[in-house]
Amino acid sequence: MKKLLLIKYSPEIFLKGLNRNKFEKTLKDNIRRVLKGVDHRFVIDSGRWFLYSEDIDELAKRVTKVFGVQEVCMVKEVNLSFEDICHQALKEIEEGDYKTFKVETNRANKKFPKNSMEISREVGAFILKHRGDLKVDVKNPDVFINVEVREKGAYIYSKKIKGVGGMPYGTNGSTLLMLSGGIDSPVAGYMMGKRGVELHCVYFHSHPYTSERAKEKVITLNEILKSYTGNTKLYIVPFTKIQMEIMDKCREDELTIIMRRFMMRIACGLASIHNISSVTTGESIGQVASQTMESLVVTNAVGDRPVFRPLISMDKEEIMNISRQIGAYETSILPYEDCCTIFVPKHPKTKPVLSVIEKSESVLDIEDLVKDAIENTEVIQ
Ligand code: ATP
Ligand code: MG
Repeated sequence: MKKLLLIKYSPEIFLKGLNRNKFEKTLKDNIRRVLKGVDHRFVIDSGRWFLYSEDIDELAKRVTKVFGVQEVCMVKEVNLSFEDICHQALKEIEEGDYKTFKVETNRANKKFPKNSMEISREVGAFILKHRGDLKVDVKNPDVFINVEVREKGAYIYSKKIKGVGGMPYGTNGSTLLMLSGGIDSPVAGYMMGKRGVELHCVYFHSHPYTSERAKEKVITLNEILKSYTGNTKLYIVPFTKIQMEIMDKCREDELTIIMRRFMMRIACGLASIHNISSVTTGESIGQVASQTMESLVVTNAVGDRPVFRPLISMDKEEIMNISRQIGAYETSILPYEDCCTIFVPKHPKTKPVLSVIEKSESVLDIEDLVKDAIENTEVIQ
């Protein structure tokens, strides 16, 4: 008997027709990447993906975080013998404290002498013969005993662990995430990555108004995203000069919206230089003054590529739940100021008008400020 991990990927990948191979290959590469340093072997048996390793628990922990993995099952492999299947199924059920069960069989190997109905029925009967205290319940059993009969062997399992789901990372274009130190933006990045979008991050740093610790916090959040994506680059843009200029020359109630427009210009500029097709933010409609419909429209006006806001219709509570699930929450709530909290006006405009804002900005040397910020951007690999 050998222990291994059965990997089930998102059903969406099955629907990709001729492109399915490409999605599968990317998923397999991504799985291999997270398993670096863990001894393992990939085996494919009649279309199913299995992983062997001495440390199955570690494999499961890592693989369930790979986008595109729907579920993993802790499987035991036995010979293609009906007797071995029965004995292993009995052992499997004895590992837990169950009262009712159902056997489910998937027979890909049509040469096996019994069909799946017969296997389920007879394995069930075998279990009942040895364990008179157990009962079959086909509607709502305590445990499903799964039997898969394939070319190389038979596989028995009952324990399943949910994966993150989604699409293989890197199969759906790229985006530059505006990553602040808050709760929302890491969640927005996670959601884009989960749909297969390659993620890069940009952080606007207002040293010395925002501390080194605020920057470290963003680097940590980027690391947390990397545990899902594997290769997220972080661009750190020096933003102090721009903020001082705005404070100096513009109306106080327009500071936020003008600042957001600078962030958008710089993000689009960086995206263009690095060949990234879109920008993503953690905005949610109505959450704060800069996230009213009017503000979003005025901010978008300076963008030259699609801006995605995956959290746009979500409540804070829902966002916080995902933040906890992905392990970002504890870092996000660390109390280090971000640039926006230091430069917040007392009464920010909630309904800015594009032509008015454009006029206010015209006293600034926009092109030069943007160029200077981009040229002095630091990259963290
Ligand atoms: P978050 O929780 O992501 O910080 P927030 O609710 O604090 O969001 P804002 O501060 O208005 O909202 O920021 C809205 C979005 O703008 C953020 O989700 C993020 O995408 C982007 N953003 C804000 N500040 C920065 C920054 N210093 N660097 C990079 N992106 C930023
Ligand atoms: Mg914030």
